[in-house]
Amino acid sequence: MGWRHNAGPACAGRRRAGRSSGGHLAQVRAEAEAAEQARRAVPCAGCGASDSAGLCTACATWRSAEAEIREAVLTAAAGQAEVDNLSDVERVVVQAESALRREVEEASARVRADGATLDEVASLARLIAETAVFTSRRSALALLAHGEVAAAEADLAFAARMRGAHRYRTRADAERAADEAAEQARERTARSLLSERLSVLRTRWHPAGAGVTHGPLRPA
Ligand SMILES: [Zn+2]
Repeated sequence: MGWRHNAGPACAGRRRAGRSSGGHLAQVRAEAEAAEQARRAVPCAGCGASDSAGLCTACATWRSAEAEIREAVLTAAAGQAEVDNLSDVERVVVQAESALRREVEEASARVRADGATLDEVASLARLIAETAVFTSRRSALALLAHGEVAAAEADLAFAARMRGAHRYRTRADAERAADEAAEQARERTARSLLSERLSVLRTRWHPAGAGVTHGPLRPA
């Protein structure tokens, strides 16, 4: 019964380990709690409100609204401007950005007058900006789909399908299929043009000033 002989000290050892790990756990919890309190106590970097964990909800929402404004403006430029022509891009950026900011400001003023909270005003701004991204994207795709590059791709797709016209029952069937292929090529080209142009513009256009997360866009 050697195991019984050893059982006592081993159990005591485990109990001691249990007590000391319990104490350790309490200390870890206390430190985590203190760290969490310190984290929550940091004032907002945007408006200085206390106990904001570094950024209050309203300022965080405004930041994402600003990011959406930037995306909407650059998407408008990607659709309407020659991306390599700085003054052309600037013209569209200034126009799109001032129109969108005016819309945000007017809507914000209206809801503020109705007693909206800062969080609600910021949420409305973000919603307007998100909608602008969607509508800018739709118009940019429509413009690019009717541009020269997309038209050329559509013609190529049409011609390629018509080369296999003998595989269709009638010529009208072949033309319908070719039209469909042309339309798909047109839309695909518009989407890839938009994403190429946007990635160029995103690297070149930033909010003015180093470390600034919002405000008018300026070329890098
Ligand atoms: Zn804030």
